[in-house]
Amino acid sequence: MSALVASGKTKELYTTDDPKVLRVHYTNHTTAGDGERNEMIPDKGAVNNEISSLIFGYLNQKGVATHFVKQLDATDQLNLSVKMIPLEVVVRNLSSGHFQKRYGTEYLQPLSRPVVEYFFKSDELHDPMINDSAAEALNIATEAQLKTMRETALKVNDLMKSLFKSMNIILVDFKIEFGITDDGQVILADEISPDSCRLLDADTKQSLDKDVFRKQTGDMMTGYREILDKLKATLK
Ligand code: 5GP
Repeated sequence: MSALVASGKTKELYTTDDPKVLRVHYTNHTTAGDGERNEMIPDKGAVNNEISSLIFGYLNQKGVATHFVKQLDATDQLNLSVKMIPLEVVVRNLSSGHFQKRYGTEYLQPLSRPVVEYFFKSDELHDPMINDSAAEALNIATEAQLKTMRETALKVNDLMKSLFKSMNIILVDFKIEFGITDDGQVILADEISPDSCRLLDADTKQSLDKDVFRKQTGDMMTGYREILDKLKATLK
């Protein structure tokens, strides 16, 4: 028997026979602007399930502690059940999106070091930016947990940057999330896919990610499929 535990904007979580493990179902829901736009894009769930499985498998192999157990089928994977920390951790290598707006920088302006930012997950408040001391003061995360998240985020950035570089793809920025296991370990959770990363073809600088949906510039799935095909060729 499998019961629905929770459902987010793009995924549904179900129980399994093992209380430590959840089945995560990737749906075709695609959202933008705090969920104001929500469309069903055929095949997106399956493609993101496979992409996230490949990336998390790669990170596991490289020694990053994650919730990923295994891919089950086209749209589902098994993940360790964790208590999610309500923070989005964004890492940026080049200026784009909200960073570009906030600081008035040029699109794709290089940054002299990777930037790590935290956002408090709250639809009501539109995910406001938050710093370490506010996150600690509001008991969202401890100093030690924030240190682990920051160090892991930078390690994930190094690993993903070199993985995508080998595929002739530029990793502009990405968002990750963390969860806490029963024994108190902070591990990488949620998903990593073109929904949560900015990825560009290194030659044409064409977007291969959700910016195509956000900016309505074409067929988003063409880029997603290209990412999946290149990951399969590189990692399998
Ligand atoms: P920005 O802050 O510039 O909008 O986004 C920075 C990076 O984090 C982008 O790669 C973007 O896809 C990702 N990101 C930021 N917020 C969210 C979110 O709420 N959901 C997802 N899936 N990705 C996000």
